[in-house]
This record gives sequence, C-alpha cells and structure tokens, in this order.
Amino acid sequence: MDVNSSPLRVAVIGGGLVGALEAVLLARRGHHVDLYEYREDIRRCPNARGRSINLALSHRGRAALRAAALESTVLAQGVPMRGRMLHAPDGRRTPVPYDVLGKECIYSVNRKFLNEILLSAAETFPNVNLHFNHKLVAADFDSGELTFQAEGGARHVPAPQLLVGADGAHSRVRAAMLRRPGFDFRQSNIEHAYLELRIPPAPDGTSLLQPVNYLHIWPRGSFMLIALPNEDASWTVTLFAPSAQLGRLCAHPHEAPAFFRERGMADALLLLGEEQLRADFAASEPSLLLSVKCEPFNVGGKVVVIGDAAHAMVPFYGQGMNAGFEDCLILDGLLEKFPPEAALNEFSRTRVPDAHAICDLAMYNYVEMRDLVARPSYKLRRCLDSVLHRLAPGLWMPLYQGVTFSRRGYKWCMEHRRRQDKVLRGALTTAGVAAAAVLARWLWDNFEVQEMAPLKRLL
Ligand code: FAD
Repeated sequence: MDVNSSPLRVAVIGGGLVGALEAVLLARRGHHVDLYEYREDIRRCPNARGRSINLALSHRGRAALRAAALESTVLAQGVPMRGRMLHAPDGRRTPVPYDVLGKECIYSVNRKFLNEILLSAAETFPNVNLHFNHKLVAADFDSGELTFQAEGGARHVPAPQLLVGADGAHSRVRAAMLRRPGFDFRQSNIEHAYLELRIPPAPDGTSLLQPVNYLHIWPRGSFMLIALPNEDASWTVTLFAPSAQLGRLCAHPHEAPAFFRERGMADALLLLGEEQLRADFAASEPSLLLSVKCEPFNVGGKVVVIGDAAHAMVPFYGQGMNAGFEDCLILDGLLEKFPPEAALNEFSRTRVPDAHAICDLAMYNYVEMRDLVARPSYKLRRCLDSVLHRLAPGLWMPLYQGVTFSRRGYKWCMEHRRRQDKVLRGALTTAGVAAAAVLARWLWDNFEVQEMAPLKRLL
C-alpha cells in the first residue's frame, strides 16, 4: 500500500538519463513533477553533442526501465553485445564472453535516443511539466526556494516538498548540500582522458568491424581503445589515454596514424581511415574523467541526490547509468513503503555503501580492461571462475556476473569476490602442499639419496 496517500510536489533538477527516468517513475505514482533542465530540449536539436554517444545497458538499468514500462522500446533499438573481443597487437582476436553460462548479454544503446524516449515518456503524464533552458543556480534548503537562470532572466520557484538532484557529476544540488554539517564529499580526477572516434558503416550498409555483437577492446597497458556497435552499423570508438598524450595528438593530428600503427592498432586504423582520424583529432579535445563519492545522499525528507550527482564514476565498468537507473528504482520502492523522510534516510543508509563500492570497482576495472585482460593470470582466474560458476551457480558468482547480471548490492559483489579470493588462495595453498607431499614421497621411493639413508633406516 502507498503510505503517501497525498501526492508530493517534486522538483527534479536535470533532465539527463537519470532525471528523466526519475520523473517517469514519480509520475506513475501520481506525484506532481516539475523537471528543470539546463540545456534546450534534446529532442529538438539534431546534432546534440554530449558525453559518450552510446552506452552499455545491463541488468540493473533494464530492471528500472521495465518498471517504467520502457524496457522493450529501448532494447528494440539496442545492439546486443555477448562479450569482449580482445585485439592483440599482432592482430589476433580472442572472444571473452560476458556471461560464463552464455545466456546473458549487455546492450549498446544510443544516449540521445534513450534520453529522448525518457523525456517523451515523462511528457505523456499530465502531472509532469518539463522546463528546458532552466539552470539551477541556487537552492536554499531552509526556505526551500530554488533559483533558476532561465531565458527571461532569474526565475524563483517556491519550495517543492521534495527536491531530487539528478544534475550530474558537477551537481548544483550537491554543491548546496556541501554547506550542511556532516556532509562528506570526495572527488578524484584520473590521469586518463578520452576522445571519441567513429567507424562508419560499409558503403553497402553492413558493419566494417566484425563480429558485431561484441564490445571490441585493444588493451595496450597504459591506454586502450574500445568500440561499441551502433544500430546503423557504425561503431563508436573511444580512445582512453593519459591526458597529456591525448592533448599532444589533438595538437599534432598528423601524428595520430603513426600512434595507432606503432601501438599495434593497425587493424583499427584501417577501419577508422587515416584522413578521417587526422580530422577527428584536429576537431576534438580530450574529455576528462572523474569519480565522485559523497554521503549522505539526502537532507532530511526534503532533498536527495541520485545518479552521477551522487556517485559519478569512471566509465570502465559500464555501470554509471545503470547504477543511476537503479537509484530511481530503489527510491521508487522506498517512497512507496515509507513517508518521505524515512524513505530518504533509508535510501542513504542502504545506497551509499553500494555507490562507493561501484565507484571503487569501476576504478579497478580501469586497470583490468587496459592491462590485466591481456595477462595469463587474468585468463586463468576467468577460467577457474567459469568452471566453478558452472558447477555451483548459486554459490560461486564471478564478480563481473554479479555486477552486470544481478541486482545484488555492489558492496555484496565486492565482498563476495574477496571471500572467493580467500577460498581460491586456500585451495591453491592446499593443492601446493599436497603436490609437494606427493613429490617428496616419489623422491623418497625412487631415489637412493646418500643423505636419506640414515633417515630411512631410522623409520
Ligand atoms: P547526466 O547524464 O550528466 O545528466 C545530468 C543533466 O543535468 C544534464 O542533462 C545537464 O544538462 C543537467 N544539469 C546539470 N546542471 C544543471 C543545473 N544546474 N540545472 C539544471 N540542469 C542541470 N554508464 C553506463 O551505465 N554504461 C556505459 O557504457 C557508460 N559509458 C560511459 C562512457 C563515457 C565515456 C562516460 C563519460 C560515461 C559513461 N557512462 C556509462 C556513465 C553515464 O554516462 C552516466 O552515469 C550517466 O549519464 C549519468 O546520468 P545522470 O542523468 O545522472 O547525469
């Protein structure tokens, strides 16, 4: 039963992926939603540019879209990806399935399309008002008044009953929370930046890069190249590299083809095209990556931050949007169960540890994707994980499986991995001791070593 018999007046700040989904879920519960978005309506700008052209959608994000009755619409336009396709410097390729049981996949979806679907879905509710070109510039949590910079100048909006900050990694709502006692905030910028390139479709409309249903990776130690498929047979290619190196290539675009060749990415260069590559580097600037942790996520029962505003992370686990969508789903369940203050407190209590865990896991995957995936120790561990998961799927869950294909808390996934590491270490030590004992026995039985003779007589 819905404990909030009277609908709330809610202001959602940010009409990106998470804010738009949050507006839909709130509206479905009958709340009155005003959504304020800094940019113009993305549906009316054909060439809207923003971060990452496509994103990997997985289990958690899909569950939230399902709750908004949008999952099938989104998946119909997504491209399934069944695993990673690793490209070695000599051109060899190795497929690494995501799901060791071979059942699950993730989907490459277009960010703009997804944002448009979500905004249009929100707009179908009579209890939702969308306000574009509204930038939140001040939030007074005591009076509740919000101030926006809008087209006609400053606009003051009286206090909503609930303020949801879904305004991204540089959140204004979170900045206002910083002034509250007990609010903790940490931001780390990583050394690497990224730049997006594109492999066009072949003239006959087919894909130049094969096979299509994979996320292709060129792991090269200190940097990496990845490619995600698009519906129109093109590929969005992202180069992650130290900012200084990327900056240099943008300043000297004629060096870019040699950079690709010398680092064992000649196959990618062929598909990107030398001339296009030089033009893309000349026209681009590296984008920076950051990770944000804060706590709590709420101020009493009045204000809450979700999505990147609460937990921006580096993109190497493909979980930023998925985690943000899961925030919406969790908050939706809590607001149905509890009055706002209890719901928001519970949201912070349960969600902060999971958000911190996925920020850490994303940072870890940053090393795994560009470096560890190419190492024999990684392949051995994956092999062990696969065998054990097949033998006991309920007991042994590989980390990637838990994060990407389950709704287990991110913190649980991280701790489960630590427990598994301990078990494996224990098993390897026991196997090592057993092997040493067998070897000793064999030596004992088969060799007449001078030094052993007195010992043998004694026994
Ligand atoms: P945003 O998408 O940043 O949206 C915030 C919105 O708020 C924007 O529309 C902005 O205009 C608006 N806004 C900002 N300030 C104000 C203000 N003052 N007033 C009003 N409006 C404001 N995640 C995945 O799950 N899978 C992936 O594969 C993946 N790949 C990624 C690849 C890259 C290169 C990057 C950088 C990120 C990737 N992510 C991925 C992460 C994902 O992009 C983010 O987690 C997601 O966009 C967060 O959504 P959001 O709505 O919280 O924030």
